[in-house]
Amino acid sequence: MKIERIELRHIKMPLVAPFTTSMGTDLDVEHIIIRVDAEGLTGWGECVAEAAPFYSGETVTTAWHVLQDFLLPAVLGKKLSGIDQANDFMARVRGHRMAKAGLEAALWDVFAKSRNASLATMLNGTKHTVAVGISIGMQPTVAELIRRVEAFRAEGYAQVKIKIAPGNDIETVKALRREFPHIPLQVDANAAYKLSDIALLKKLDDYSLRLIEQPLHHEDLLDHAELQRQIATTVALDESICSLHTARAACALKSCRAMNIKPGRVGGLSEAVRIHALCAAHHIPVWHGGMLETGIGRAANLALASLENFTLPADIYADGRHYSEDIVESPCTLNADSTLNVPTGPGIGVQVRLARLEQVTATREVFC
Ligand code: MG
Repeated sequence: MKIERIELRHIKMPLVAPFTTSMGTDLDVEHIIIRVDAEGLTGWGECVAEAAPFYSGETVTTAWHVLQDFLLPAVLGKKLSGIDQANDFMARVRGHRMAKAGLEAALWDVFAKSRNASLATMLNGTKHTVAVGISIGMQPTVAELIRRVEAFRAEGYAQVKIKIAPGNDIETVKALRREFPHIPLQVDANAAYKLSDIALLKKLDDYSLRLIEQPLHHEDLLDHAELQRQIATTVALDESICSLHTARAACALKSCRAMNIKPGRVGGLSEAVRIHALCAAHHIPVWHGGMLETGIGRAANLALASLENFTLPADIYADGRHYSEDIVESPCTLNADSTLNVPTGPGIGVQVRLARLEQVTATREVFC
């Protein structure tokens, strides 16, 4: 397909409630929406680089720069035989995985539409629904956290993930377990601890957690392996896994017993599929993480999470979790069994609301 036109939009979406983690508090979400036009078809992708370099080293500004100056010129005006060729053209750029993943997602969408196939089908997904849980940011009080867990459980989310940080960990988990003795519960530290905190982290073994996510440094694999040797709770990696290479090292070192896969963090859907296959071969279950995506990113995430080894509940949410008004038409509601439907239409299978997209656009630029 000949890639004829690419549009970038820096969007700013207000959150329905502040979202607090060990990295800080977000009141709104800034991402880049990428539109690719090719031979009468339109593809959409979402670059999940955020306003500040706190989760990842990338930001909206760095991603825009790398897209505009390097990635778009690599594919614009070219007649591409498929995604692999697009990735070959983009491979010269090192790092900047969220920028690459956003553009790759838009290309996947347009290629899938050219075959009248859903993205899930293109990725060899096998599931029609994806089990999901709710991720709740840190709350001002434990009572407020309990109230939120009750509310989300009433909405139908079966599993709960909470964010923890030093000073907001054991007592919080203990209180939550007292209130909800049997719910599937996992915690995410976003790299807030050190291996020297091992005595504290061991205490989490008393609370039947499904897993602890990324307790240690965001680039570490060795200390996580040591921690996993010493605690019973499953250690899962998020930030530390940025490519198939780091995933291979984590498997070899036994740094984790579960893995969070986010296409933005690893450079795109193609790399995410490769990591998924690697983990399946090592009997490491994976789940699809979340970056507070709009309905565009969510649709692609559901397609990816339909692959077989995504056996743990995804951090993907129904309408209304983060945004009162999304930028896609297609409703996404929670099923009674705490699952979301995988879109079945061509490509990402959702319709973009152009008027709403315009409302949340801070900057727009078209490249031909
Ligand atoms: Mg995480």
